[in-house]
Amino acid sequence: MQILPARAKKAHGVSLSIVPIFLLVLCIMGSMALVANRAAMRQQAFELDREKRQLTQSLGFEAESLLAAVARDEGLGELFQVQRSRETLERLLAALNRRQATDYAILIAKSDGHLLAEAGETETFSRRSAFMRRLVDSARMRGLDTTTIGIGREARVLQDGQGAFALATMPIGRSIILAVTRPIGAGALRRFSTMLAIPNLRLVGGEAPTETSIAVPGLAGEPVMSLVWMPSRAAAETLTDLAIFGLSASIGIAIVALVLFRRMRASTEALLMREAKASHEARHDPLSGLPNRAVFCDTLAENIEDLPNRDSSIAVLLLDLDKFKDVNDIYGHAAGDKVIVDFGNRVRALLRQTDMIARLGGDEFAVMQTGIRSHGETTWLAQAIIDAANRPFVMDGATMQIGVTIGISFAPDDGLEIAAILRAADTALYRAKNEGRNRFALYEHRMTESERIRKLVDDELRGAIDRDELTLVYQPQVHAENGRIASVEALVRWRHPSYGLISPATFISAAEERGLIVPLGQWVMRRACLDAARWPGLRVGVNVSAIQFRQQNFVRDVARTIEEAALEPGRLELELTEGVLVEDADQAEAAMVELRSIGVKLALDDFGTGYSSLIYLRRFAFDKIKIDKSFLDSMEATGESAILVHSVVHLGRALGLEVTAEGVETEEQRRFLQAVGCHFLQGYLFSKPVSADAIDEMLRAEAEADRGTTPPLSAA
Ligand code: C2E
Ligand code: CA
Ligand code: CA
Repeated sequence: MQILPARAKKAHGVSLSIVPIFLLVLCIMGSMALVANRAAMRQQAFELDREKRQLTQSLGFEAESLLAAVARDEGLGELFQVQRSRETLERLLAALNRRQATDYAILIAKSDGHLLAEAGETETFSRRSAFMRRLVDSARMRGLDTTTIGIGREARVLQDGQGAFALATMPIGRSIILAVTRPIGAGALRRFSTMLAIPNLRLVGGEAPTETSIAVPGLAGEPVMSLVWMPSRAAAETLTDLAIFGLSASIGIAIVALVLFRRMRASTEALLMREAKASHEARHDPLSGLPNRAVFCDTLAENIEDLPNRDSSIAVLLLDLDKFKDVNDIYGHAAGDKVIVDFGNRVRALLRQTDMIARLGGDEFAVMQTGIRSHGETTWLAQAIIDAANRPFVMDGATMQIGVTIGISFAPDDGLEIAAILRAADTALYRAKNEGRNRFALYEHRMTESERIRKLVDDELRGAIDRDELTLVYQPQVHAENGRIASVEALVRWRHPSYGLISPATFISAAEERGLIVPLGQWVMRRACLDAARWPGLRVGVNVSAIQFRQQNFVRDVARTIEEAALEPGRLELELTEGVLVEDADQAEAAMVELRSIGVKLALDDFGTGYSSLIYLRRFAFDKIKIDKSFLDSMEATGESAILVHSVVHLGRALGLEVTAEGVETEEQRRFLQAVGCHFLQGYLFSKPVSADAIDEMLRAEAEADRGTTPPLSAA
């Protein structure tokens, strides 16, 4: 049975199921990255916007304060009217622009047309007062009239195409002091930079095209320069950090997941292997490795389902090894095991791919042959199996010989249900065994009634004892001279739930064969003794099978049963047949002596049917002989039997034995038997075997007859 590949498929399925999980994780991480990226972009834009706003504000503030001052400056127009000064101023501005460190320049235009100039760096406009003081000082030093020098109004933003400058003008006497500062000089940039936390703030000429710049407006508000800077990359950096973290975390998680997954898959695979192994073990016989009954039945069911589609049939062969018990007993269980395994292999070698052999248990096997078109294919196989079984099995130099008996049934011919097909094969097997084993038999629909019942006994008798399906009936033995009941014989019956009352004639021998006679006999003995307790003074005959009698514990069992039922031993009469005496006469004799010592009575049953050896009568201490019904039957036909019966009765009497005649059916028989001196009579003429209650009734009737009211039981 190929079970493992299916399991492996399952393992593959497990590994596939991890893929969607990975994809899901990937999706989640991807969308998280997208969201983070968008957030970072937004943050970046927001930052840039903030930087621009703040710079513009700061710039605006500076410019405004300058412009406000310019607006209040009255001496401005004057300056611009001095053309010469203007040119000079422009040269100066150009120089300033080349010298980045210069934030201011002071130009003193003297009335005599001379210009004095100074340039330098200032931190802020607010320090300009100090700067002005220095300016005044330097003017003084140069012999200017400083008294009129004051800190004048400043300033305005000038544009020279390259830079923006604040211009302050101060009249000093007849001279005019022009003070020029770079409004957004290095100091302002540093200030903005630290105040607004914007790194790399630079001033470039003209309009910068990048978005990380703002225009510095000139006098008319037109852009003259641009402030450029490195935009804040905090969000991007965070994103990068996040990305690095996410990536390494992902790699870590992936590694851990991979390790876990591999472990999981390994353990899943191990589990599946174990499961497959367990399932295989549950479905196969551990010794032979063959499929077991469950698998056989499952496969049979599948094949039956397929049947209607094909014009072929299925054969089921039930195999039962012959003499297998001997192999076990003589050569030991190891040898028995080897025979089982070898036999399985031999049969398997005979089968086609589509056929199947299963071990049902013990020495029983089943073979299924599918797609057969003629019974010949099956009988050929059956014979081949028998031949294979008959070839010797060799182990450790010992040669073992067995055989096999085979019962065959077919689907759909013998049924379409597993139970019916198996039952039919089993019935055929039963017949093959009865026909002498080491052969095969096909199921025939019309098995004989007795075969059916014998099989039933095989299958169900043990359960019947446990289920209390057995019951006893009693047949009276009457005094020959007056017809009064002297004793009763207990006869067992099987009340089968579906077959009704089954006669012991059909199941006693089967019970003996199957080793069921001992529990059955014990049950009968117990029941009979208990019933007998109801009939004081009456003897109860109980039939004892030879097998039962030969049991080691038989005498002890009888003694205990009597004791438990509180029955006087003399009221129990065991009916033994000659079979009891034939096999081990000494042991039988010993048991009989023992039984008699307890006080139990012994009757020789069916006298005249077996060896009818008079020796038995002399050697064994019987109390009674029961002349078999067959004597009476033939007595009617020939006069000879009458003489024989006569002499047997005489003989019995001469040996001091009681004599009972069985099967008395007619008045003539009764009269004859009475005439020849028979003590007791038993037969349908007086009563058929009846229930214990009916015996009660008979005894009551007798008692009443004694009082003279009702006639006695017998016809006499
Ligand atoms: P058996 O011991 O010879 O029992 C007498 C059989 O003859 C009984 O059959 C009985 O019903 C039948 N019989 C009695 N009178 C007449 C008659 O007038 N005409 C005819 N045709 N038959 C009569 P049953 O009860 O079917 O028993 C058959 C045999 O089964 C018994 O033969 C006995 O050997 C065996 N048997 C019955 N009960 C037990 C039992 O509890 N233990 C054992 N070991 N064997 C039993
Ligand atoms: Ca009997
Ligand atoms: Ca008998």
